[in-house]
Amino acid sequence: MPKQEKVSCLKRVTYLRAMSLAICAASIAALAAAQGPPSLMLPENQVTHVSDHVSVIIGFPNIGIVVGDRATLVVDTGLGPRNGAIALHEAQKLSRGPVLYLTTTHYHAEHAAGEGAFPPNTILVRPVAQELEVQQKGEQFVAMFSSRSAQMKELLEGVKFRAPDITFDKEITIDLGGATARLFWMGMAAHTQADELIDVEPDSTLISGDIVQNKTLPNLPDQYASMKGWVETLAQLRQHPKWQHIVPDHSPAGDGSLVEEDYQFFSQLQTRALELKRQGKSADEAGQTLLAEFKMKFPDWPNLNALPNVVKHIYAENP
Ligand SMILES: [Zn+2]
Repeated sequence: MPKQEKVSCLKRVTYLRAMSLAICAASIAALAAAQGPPSLMLPENQVTHVSDHVSVIIGFPNIGIVVGDRATLVVDTGLGPRNGAIALHEAQKLSRGPVLYLTTTHYHAEHAAGEGAFPPNTILVRPVAQELEVQQKGEQFVAMFSSRSAQMKELLEGVKFRAPDITFDKEITIDLGGATARLFWMGMAAHTQADELIDVEPDSTLISGDIVQNKTLPNLPDQYASMKGWVETLAQLRQHPKWQHIVPDHSPAGDGSLVEEDYQFFSQLQTRALELKRQGKSADEAGQTLLAEFKMKFPDWPNLNALPNVVKHIYAENP
């Protein structure tokens, strides 16, 4: 897809409602299918404007850049320092003020392992609970990613995590000058034990990490992940006035309806899995039953193949 077309498609994803959103999601999925798996390298010179103060580099993962008059906040780093340098460079091109903040939505390698590329005066901010995960599991996750391919290994060579300059418990609001970024953690596990989200005002834009995605199954990578916590997190996000823009990390941007749609899907899946468990169905049987059921209920979600794994996780969480 030519760059111009891609940008206008992403703008439509951002600004229009469900119908065009579904079409764009499908065309981006078709693009991915035509080009093979997404590149591990962030694209250069391809920043998409989401709202007055928020831009995004669409890549693995999507990198949020929030620009105020005084300071700029970068959300996530990309996989390893070479990607971190691209995120930094794009942020510097957009920046209007002298101060640079960096935060990470969670400790996984594509979100945090590029922080070494940022200059020493960058102010790194993250929740205390996430910092504990960085210390306990960060290097282990980098090693796991490195074992997946030669390219990942090369990109992650010699990665060391740096200590944050500011930590917070549940939330902190940073004044960027003309815009604020509220960094918050809901206090419970979901994709990881300490997923951070970023609420940018006055833009009504939520940078949602893995927590709110666009027609994408929950990714529960290990025993620390929690479907219960994820559903409860979404239940609380539903109480917030609907955001105009939501920027997930691994799927196309959309509007506030993504929160409600994810809540409906995830909560109904959890409820049905627990019903089948009470009826004595095995996790495998329930997985197949619910795969068929949710394909019917949510026909515009493009890939539900991993749904039986989510059901297994729900069973394991509720012995
Ligand atoms: Zn992750």
